[in-house]
Amino acid sequence: MVFGPVKSRRLGRSLGVNLLPVDGKLCNFDCIYCECGWTDAPDKPLRFNDRGVIAEALEARLRAMSEAGEGLDVITFAGNGEPTMHPHFAEIVDDTVALRDRLFPSAKVAVLSNATMIGRESVRKALERVDRAILKIDSAFPETIRIVNGPRFDYSLDKVIEWMNRFEGDIVVQTMFLRGEKDGIVIDNTTDEEVSAWLDVLDRVRPSQVMIYSIDRATPHDRLAKVSGDELERIAERVRARGYRCDHTV
Ligand code: SF4
Repeated sequence: MVFGPVKSRRLGRSLGVNLLPVDGKLCNFDCIYCECGWTDAPDKPLRFNDRGVIAEALEARLRAMSEAGEGLDVITFAGNGEPTMHPHFAEIVDDTVALRDRLFPSAKVAVLSNATMIGRESVRKALERVDRAILKIDSAFPETIRIVNGPRFDYSLDKVIEWMNRFEGDIVVQTMFLRGEKDGIVIDNTTDEEVSAWLDVLDRVRPSQVMIYSIDRATPHDRLAKVSGDELERIAERVRARGYRCDHTV
């Protein structure tokens, strides 16, 4: 429920908060690269972690770290699935921000999300209260999104962009670049066509920052290849040329 701290490639020393089941994965995507493995079947009985239990666990961990003089850069909502699907996501954000203010005021609060729930006002407003809302867009093309992210509903990138615009730029867009093959279909979101269309999407969203990365750990689909640091840097340069801050990790 509370894990780490771990050294995150993208965020620094990060204490993770998992709102999702410990015995399975709950997400409305089924990304071929997900570090949690394939998404469980919708009929598997899974339950979200309880709000009160999460707050207690987080308070105990923050208190122990503070007393031990440990450093902490960020408290990150991540874990076995999509945190914004938790029915009490907004309240848990409030609990977390209050605990951070009281026990670790220098730490940031970040949420890693696939952006599919940000059309809900309570989710959007909660994300506006954290320091970093890090939202996924892996491609501008519906077919690539279908293969790479495996949405389990009728996903619309136009809708997600419309919802992202309500943040008025106060979001980080995060993108996984990879190559591979699935069911005989070639996957490569690093082609010029893919990157150019994705840059145009960034221009519609106008995020405060863009984070790009590639595969680092075992993936549920095994026919995937990592994109090199040099290639990520070339993509990052194109992002910066459009006027956005862009970091990448390998
Ligand atoms: S959105 Fe995140 S948690 Fe859900 S399948 Fe994709 S990588 Fe995994």
